[in-house]
Amino acid sequence: MNSFVAQGQTLTFVDDPFRVGPERAIDYRSKGAVWVENGLIRAVGPALEVRQAAAGAPVIDYGEALIIAGFVDCHTHYPQISMIASYGAQLLDWLQIYTFPTEAAFGDLVHARETAGLFLDQCARNGITTSSVYATVHPQSVDGFFQVALARNLRMVGGKVLMDRNAPDDLLDSAESGYEESKKLIEKWHGAGRNVYAITPRFAPTSSPEQLRAAATLWREFPDAVMQTHLSENSDEIAWVGDLFTDAPDYFGVYEKFSLVGPGAVFGHAVHLNEREGAALRESGSAIAHCPTSNAFIGSGLFDMKGLRDGDEPVTVGLATDIAGGSSLSMFATMRSAYEIGQLRGYSLHPAKAWYLATVGGARALRLDGCIGNLSVGNEADMVVIDLASTPIIANRMIRADDIWDAMFVQMIMADDRAIIATYSAGELIYERPN
Ligand SMILES: [Zn+2]
Repeated sequence: MNSFVAQGQTLTFVDDPFRVGPERAIDYRSKGAVWVENGLIRAVGPALEVRQAAAGAPVIDYGEALIIAGFVDCHTHYPQISMIASYGAQLLDWLQIYTFPTEAAFGDLVHARETAGLFLDQCARNGITTSSVYATVHPQSVDGFFQVALARNLRMVGGKVLMDRNAPDDLLDSAESGYEESKKLIEKWHGAGRNVYAITPRFAPTSSPEQLRAAATLWREFPDAVMQTHLSENSDEIAWVGDLFTDAPDYFGVYEKFSLVGPGAVFGHAVHLNEREGAALRESGSAIAHCPTSNAFIGSGLFDMKGLRDGDEPVTVGLATDIAGGSSLSMFATMRSAYEIGQLRGYSLHPAKAWYLATVGGARALRLDGCIGNLSVGNEADMVVIDLASTPIIANRMIRADDIWDAMFVQMIMADDRAIIATYSAGELIYERPN
């Protein structure tokens, strides 16, 4: 029986800080502990109590380090990891110049598996325990990814990109082949180990109406799969969608028309929504993957966190790296960028809110908050241990940190992978910082 206690500072979200404020949203212990048994969280609380309850289980003492749930990245493209930091293009040119040529290589299972291995190594190093990935149009790209995720017993989400027009010929499927291949992949991988399948039309411009209809049929047949796509990232893209779908009221209206909205639907970006789209998105129960480093790096625009997330009826939002439009696989960098984008709109994203979006928010977007995204009893033990003084400049600044939120703010602005001491997936150590 695998049983141990991890001791350090612990932080659990007990409510949504956007609604109840930071203090009421958390259960924080400066001397806390987590008891892990058979891959699940058995207890969280004051260190003495937890150690007593776990009588005899070995204790790993992380001292002053912070133990929280592993980060959840709810929108990213693992095949694009090798093209990170590519210069000088905005969305539609970016796809033509960089993305499509890179993705063309993923019909090769070995290449897919090697790239997935590299990507998942880097996720673990950055404390990310769940990612929702877009593979490529090739079924092999999904097989490679889920093979590695299964071998490592990770809680990963992903799916084959559906794309039957407006892309190079070697990257196109058809409405029918896309449906058939996705269905086989769902039967093979959805629920294999901890894998979760995501039905993945890239975005409205690269799918015909027939393909969007087929995607909706698939989602009806497998309603507990995730449905992920892109929405309203860039102005030229939005104009293009208007030309392609003349009978839809707007971009989100296209997905509504094809029944691709609702709980379990995760829309990447949503930067330039009109009022109707914001309301429709909220009413449908759909979620947004906010990709701040990508929105800044590709020059797409400034996400309206205040309008969509504050107030009585918040939209479900998670944070996402969007590799490789995004410029970092670090959730610290992603939180910092979300803060900076808020600042540019006159809104200061409180660290409680940023950390919530990076963990619980992403898990809720993917409808996985019943098993990951928080240090709650019964959840899968996906956890990260964070050194709060990982570099000299952070250590120096931390001397002035007078409460947990100031300390967490310093981390989200300054920290990087050097702060990750250990990453656990289902109670197994999957990354440990070299000494
Ligand atoms: Zn994306």
